[in-house]
Amino acid sequence: MEDWIIDKIAEKNNVPKEDILKEIKKRLERFPSLTEDAILRMLATENGITPIKRDYKAGEINQKIAHVNISAKIKKKFPPRTVTVKGREARVMNFVIEDETGELPVVTWNENYIDKISNVKDGEHISIVNAYAKENSFNNIVELNIGSGAAISVNSNSVTKTESKQKEYKKINQVNDGETAYIKGFITRLFADDIYLVRCNICKKKVTDVCDIHGDKAISKTLKIRGILDDGIKSASITFFDKQADELLKLSEKEDLNEKLNQISFGLFQIDVSARMNKFNDSYAFTAKTVSATSYDL
Ligand SMILES: [Zn+2]
Repeated sequence: MEDWIIDKIAEKNNVPKEDILKEIKKRLERFPSLTEDAILRMLATENGITPIKRDYKAGEINQKIAHVNISAKIKKKFPPRTVTVKGREARVMNFVIEDETGELPVVTWNENYIDKISNVKDGEHISIVNAYAKENSFNNIVELNIGSGAAISVNSNSVTKTESKQKEYKKINQVNDGETAYIKGFITRLFADDIYLVRCNICKKKVTDVCDIHGDKAISKTLKIRGILDDGIKSASITFFDKQADELLKLSEKEDLNEKLNQISFGLFQIDVSARMNKFNDSYAFTAKTVSATSYDL
C-alpha cells in the first residue's frame, strides 16, 4: 500500500496512522473481494483525497504502487528481447529513467510502447501515466511496469500530435463551466456503493426506496454511476446516468454487476467521453454525454 495515502487520511482526520490501518482491516472483512489497495483508495476518496500522485519522483518508487505518473529523462535503453512465455513468443524491453532523485528501471511488454521508446533518444524526457511499480521476483528490484492501461508521451516537438483531427480534445482544466467537451482519460475510481437513482415519478423527487405518499406505484430506478476521470494532469468527478452508465458497464466483460464495477474501477480503462462540466465551489464535476473505450497516448 502507498504510505503517503495513509498518512494523508490520518492527517486529515487528526488520528494516528494505526487507526487508519485498523479501519482498512475492518473494511477488508466487510468487503472480502476487494484488495487492500482498493480499500485504501475507497477511504481516500471518502476523505476527499485523490489517491493518485501525479508527480512521483524516481527515488520515491521503492514499493508496490498501483498508479504511477512520472516524468523523467531516458538514461539508458536496452535492446528489445524476444522471450518465450507459456509457449508464446513475446517482446520485452527494459530501460532506465532518471530524474534529480535517482534512477528507476522500467519494463514494458507492450509492442506499441516498445516501438515508441525505441525511437526516443537517450536524454529525452518522457511522461508515463498509469504505470505500476512492483518488485521484480527475479532480482527483488522495484521496477516500473508499463502495461496496456498506461500511456507514454514523449516531451519533444518531433514525436507528437499524429492523432486524428476530427475531434478536438480538451484537458479537464481547459473546460469551462457549462461547456461540453471531448476528454480522453482513465477511470481511476468508481463509487460502487450507491448506483441507482430511485425516483417517485408522481412527486418527481428522489426517494430512498419507496415514496412516503405513493409507495412503489410510480417508482423508477435508473443507473447513476459516479467515478473519477483522470486525464493525466487533473482528475475530476464524472457521473454516468442511464444509457451512459450502461455504456460504461459494457467496458467490462464480467457477468455480475459488482464484478463489472470492480473491474472498471481498478482496470484502468482508457475512455473517450464527451461530458458537460459544472463547477461546484472550486471542483469540477462532469456529466457524461457519450462514452467509449479507447486506446491512445495522453
Ligand atoms: Zn410520490
